[in-house]
Amino acid sequence: MAHTHSIRSARVRLDGTDAVWVPVALGGGITLLAAIASLAHGHLGWNDAAGIVLLIAAATLAEAFPVPIEGVAVGSTSLATIFLVAGATIYGWAAAAVAGFLAMALVELGRRRPFSRIAFNCGVYVIGGAAAGGVADRFQDGTLLGLALGAVAAAIAFYVVDITLLAAVVTRSRAVPFVPSLFNYVQLTFVPFAVMASLAVILVVLWDRSPFVAVVLVGPLLATALYQRWIHGALSRLREFDRLKDEFIAIVSHELRTPLTSVYGAAMTLENQQLDERRRHELLEIISTEAARLSRLLDDILWVSRLDSGRARPFITPIEPLPLVADVVEATRTHLPQGLSLELLHDSPLPKVAADPDKLRQVLVNLFENAVKYSREGVVRVRLGSYYGNVRFSVRDEGPGIPLAQQERIFEKFYRLDPNMTQGVGGTGLGLYICRELIDAMNGDIWVESTPGEGSTFSFELPAVEAS
Ligand code: ADP
Repeated sequence: MAHTHSIRSARVRLDGTDAVWVPVALGGGITLLAAIASLAHGHLGWNDAAGIVLLIAAATLAEAFPVPIEGVAVGSTSLATIFLVAGATIYGWAAAAVAGFLAMALVELGRRRPFSRIAFNCGVYVIGGAAAGGVADRFQDGTLLGLALGAVAAAIAFYVVDITLLAAVVTRSRAVPFVPSLFNYVQLTFVPFAVMASLAVILVVLWDRSPFVAVVLVGPLLATALYQRWIHGALSRLREFDRLKDEFIAIVSHELRTPLTSVYGAAMTLENQQLDERRRHELLEIISTEAARLSRLLDDILWVSRLDSGRARPFITPIEPLPLVADVVEATRTHLPQGLSLELLHDSPLPKVAADPDKLRQVLVNLFENAVKYSREGVVRVRLGSYYGNVRFSVRDEGPGIPLAQQERIFEKFYRLDPNMTQGVGGTGLGLYICRELIDAMNGDIWVESTPGEGSTFSFELPAVEAS
C-alpha cells in the first residue's frame, strides 16, 4: 500500500477521518504555496523547466494507470513515485512538490473523486515530494555517489511520508490500531518500494547524463506495469473461481439433501404405515420424481467433469432434427406442472443438422427444464427453423426473464441469478454452461434474448447438412 501513494480503493472511505485528512490537506496546501513561491524566485532555466514538465507528464501518466499489488487491499501502487523521487533529487523540493500536486490533482479530478479524497491524496504527494527533495539535497556534493545516495534518501523520505499518512487515514476510517497496521503495511509493500527506489536511482543517474537517454527506462517500466496487471487479473479470476466453487459445494449439498430427504421420508412412510392405494401411489410418485432429480444433478456434474477433462468429444452425424426434438418435447410434457403448456412449431421441410444426437438431446432437455422450472406457468414455445445454412432451435418462455447485464454470465459455470434460492427454485448453475460447451463442440452458437418480466428466449443454431 505504501506505494499506493494515494487511496485508490473505493473501499477506503474518508468519512470520520477529518482529524487526519484536513491537516494533511492544509499542510499540503501551505507546502504547495511555499514551493510555488520558491520556484518563482529561483532561476529556472528553460532546460530545467522542460525537464520538470516531462517528469510531471510521466508521473501523471503513471498515476492514471496504477499497478495493483498482490495482497494489498487498500489500493494499487503507482509508478509515479519513481518520477517524483527523481524530480525531487534533480530539481529540488519545490519542483517535486508542484509535480506531485499536478500529477495527483489532474488524475483525481479526471476521476471525479470526492473533495476530501482529492485534497488528502494531493496533500500526501506534495508533502512527500517536498520531503524527498529536502533530504536529497543534503547528499548532493556534485559526485555521482552523492546523486545516487540522494535518490535513495529521497525514495525513503517519500515512502515514509506516504505510508505513515496512509496508515493514519486508513486505520482511522476502519477504527483499527495504528502501529500494528503500519507495521503490516510496511511488510506488504517493502519489496515493491525497494524495486521503485532502485528504479528511481537508475532514472536519476541516467537523467544526469542526459534526459534523452533516460527514455530507455520506459521499456522496462511499461513491461513491469503490464506484467503486474496481467498477474493481478489472473489471480483475481482464480479467486472468483474459488469463491464460485465454494458456493457450488454449498448448493450441491443442498440440492442433494432435498430430494434425498423426500425419498427417505416417503420410503419410511410406505414401510411403516398401512396406506390406501392412492396414498401409496402418491408416495411412489414422489420417490420416482425425486430420484430422477438426483440423477439429473449427478448427470450435470458428470457432464461438467467430462467437458473439463476434454472427454466429451462429439460424434457428429447428419440427423433429422424434428423427430429428436418432438421426442424430447413429448418426454417433457409427461411431467409439466399445471398451468404450463409446451408447443412445438417448425418450418417444413427442415434440413438435417450436423450434430451429436445425445448431446443435442442433452441441450434441449436442459433448456426445456429451465423454461419449465423458471416460468412455472404460461406457454413454452419451441421453434425449429432454417436460417442461412443453419438450423435454429429456440425455446421461448413467459417466465421472469433475465436482466441484460446477466445474459452473458448465466452461461458461466456455477453462475446463478438467485444463488440463495429466495425464489425457491433450486439448481447448480451448471445447465447453461453445459449447453454452451456442447453447442460450441458441435460448431454452433447459443444465446439468450430476454425482457425481465416478460420472458426469455434461448436459441441455438447448428450447421445444416443440406440446403432446405
Ligand atoms: P440452474 O438452473 O441449475 O441454476 P443454469 O445454468 O441452467 O443453472 O442456469 C443459470 C441461471 O440462469 C439460473 O440460475 C437462472 O437464474 C437463469 N435462468 C436459466 N434459464 C432461465 C429461464 N428460462 N428464465 C429465467 N432465468 C433463467
